Amino acid sequence: MTTDKKSLQTKLIHSDYTPPEGFAAFPTAIHHASTVLFKNVAALRSRNWQEKTGYTYGLHGTPTTFTLEARLAAIEQGEHCVLAPSGLAAIAMVDLALLKSGDDVLLPDNVYNPNREMGNWLERDFGITARYYDPLTGAGIAELIQQNTRLVWTEAPGSVSMEVPDIPAICRAAHERGVLVALDNTWAAGIAFAGFDHGADIVMQALTKYQSGGSDVLMGAVITRDRELHHRLELAHMRLGLGVGADDAYLVLRGLATLKLRFDAHDAGARKVAAWLKDRPEISRVLHPAFADCPGHEIWKRDFSGAGGLFSVIFDERYTEAQTDRVIDALKMFKIGYSWGGAGSLCVPYQIQTMRKAWQGNGQLVRFNIGLEDPLDLIADIEQALAVL
Ligand SMILES: *Cc1c(COP(=O)(O)O)cnc(C)c1O
Repeated sequence: MTTDKKSLQTKLIHSDYTPPEGFAAFPTAIHHASTVLFKNVAALRSRNWQEKTGYTYGLHGTPTTFTLEARLAAIEQGEHCVLAPSGLAAIAMVDLALLKSGDDVLLPDNVYNPNREMGNWLERDFGITARYYDPLTGAGIAELIQQNTRLVWTEAPGSVSMEVPDIPAICRAAHERGVLVALDNTWAAGIAFAGFDHGADIVMQALTKYQSGGSDVLMGAVITRDRELHHRLELAHMRLGLGVGADDAYLVLRGLATLKLRFDAHDAGARKVAAWLKDRPEISRVLHPAFADCPGHEIWKRDFSGAGGLFSVIFDERYTEAQTDRVIDALKMFKIGYSWGGAGSLCVPYQIQTMRKAWQGNGQLVRFNIGLEDPLDLIADIEQALAVL
């Protein structure tokens, strides 16, 4: 059958076989590549790595990653997308693309803690000032904007203390002064809050959470509408070498089909569990944007179409940290761990009084991530755990 005269060792590497064209299936193919092959030198010379019309090197994109980028941009109602190997890498890419020595960046005081760590690092070692603002300041952000302020980070809502910021007001004030606004839209998964329509210039997502949905992938995305801004992000992506693996990109693509169904199920379950907690004497406050005692609840009602599975509670001040730790340890179905967006429910305590500059009250904060279990089973689990008090 074979007329191939090449030696075995060469045949192990080169083959003339090409599969027939016309294969079609729902899943996006997983293309693994560092090296991308060109038909001839002219093709190599003519291709521009920043254009998505051709392939140049694995780092800059494959059909798998281009497809994921295009789909994420469409879901966020943006135009362009750059992937990063984690949500935090996406945050760093935004900062390094847009800030330089002498610049100033504003971050909400309830920002995702590693983003604060990044801000502090920029300030300590890179000659950039990072200042923190009250997440509920809204148009008041104007008073903080300086001549050298280049970027305002926002998070809707802050993922521990859950204040819902007035993103349109912040964006209006920033744009009047020529300052860009980046939004961490992870909580709303890019589907319950339309970042660009509310004014953001850059929307960042930790795909690690709902998009993947499997608690098995780390990935981030930065989405833009403006082409020039996208090119600046692409340059930072290239200079930092923030490639993502094809298998991971595939897992996120696979998660997208069920994203809305899962998000809505997390949302419904979380509201049931949060409502039950609200009536418990051990709990003084439920920090869930859909509940009236959450700061910024009115803004959530105005701007958001859903809530997902993440919320926090504040225990009554009579309980010590040691006591609430015992409650968490007594949970059986809820596991102890960071992150969210997977099928399994999680619970974590946060020392909110040490995390925030101006935090009122001494009650212990505990964050719940409601997975996809039956909410009644989750409530029963919390009920038996509260009994240790
Ligand atoms: C998880 C998370 C990130 C970072 O995502 P990783 O993929 O874990 O690096 C950023 N922002 C928010 C709000 C997050 O919850």
